[in-house]
Amino acid sequence: YRAKFAPFKNENGDYGGLIVVLQDITEQQKLENMRKEFVANVSHELKTPITTIKSYTETLLEGAIDDTQYSMQFLKVINNECDRMARIVRDLLQLSNLDFKQTKWNMTKISVKELIEETLKRTEIFAKEKRQSINVQIEENITEIFADKDGILQVILNIVSNAIKYTPEKGKIDISVKMENDNVVITVKDNGIGIPEKDLDRIFERFYRVDKARSRALGGTGLGLSIAKQIVEAHNGDIKIRSKYNVGTEVDIILPVVGV
Ligand code: ADP
Repeated sequence: YRAKFAPFKNENGDYGGLIVVLQDITEQQKLENMRKEFVANVSHELKTPITTIKSYTETLLEGAIDDTQYSMQFLKVINNECDRMARIVRDLLQLSNLDFKQTKWNMTKISVKELIEETLKRTEIFAKEKRQSINVQIEENITEIFADKDGILQVILNIVSNAIKYTPEKGKIDISVKMENDNVVITVKDNGIGIPEKDLDRIFERFYRVDKARSRALGGTGLGLSIAKQIVEAHNGDIKIRSKYNVGTEVDIILPVVGV
């Protein structure tokens, strides 16, 4: 706590007492620490690909370029690292727009069922590659919701992609949609690697990952869940995660029907 003192006078001009203001600075300090940690993370995330690009480029310049096989290999690495940086910067820009409330939402009536179908169209190929099965169960009584179609599609895509990424071959993914009061609840359940209890609290933080190397190898930026949470919250909804290490993960995307 930070304390501020101010004496005050009564109508006779005598000191009548003391005003003490106690300010909780722990919250302020926590925010400041989070800001510092964020800058450190961004720098580190960008530094890694830059170091790789630099060393491969130098090797090419030092003569490896004369060997077609090597140079093809090196250029592929450089190209991949550029893609990674582009993904990080794209996600950071989106987060920044969300932070400053500059995201333009195009609110319309949308069918969650159609969004699930669109998600399947785009992700099924990755599930097939891993011989995973995706089951979908949509209750009859699902109403349309008033929301930004692209934003919500991005959220569902992110959660389903995570389920596919973090579930081994032949795994099972269940997507269900049901009504709960005035909310549509989309649940994505997998029987994948799960998240250890100690990491669950922090999983929506920017750049927080259970296993950095694994996430990187899968092309992740560690920003997907925090973007998803921010989009859902901008819709007055919520996103919840339950998980058991080595058993599986379950994510609820809760969206109010509002205005329809
Ligand atoms: P990433 O780009 O690393 O996938 P996300 O923000 O989407 O970033 O997710 C953050 C981390 O949460 C992941 O790195 C992973 O450790 C964990 N995670 C997310 N979804 C799942 C899941 N379905 N199963 C297991 N771990 C998950």
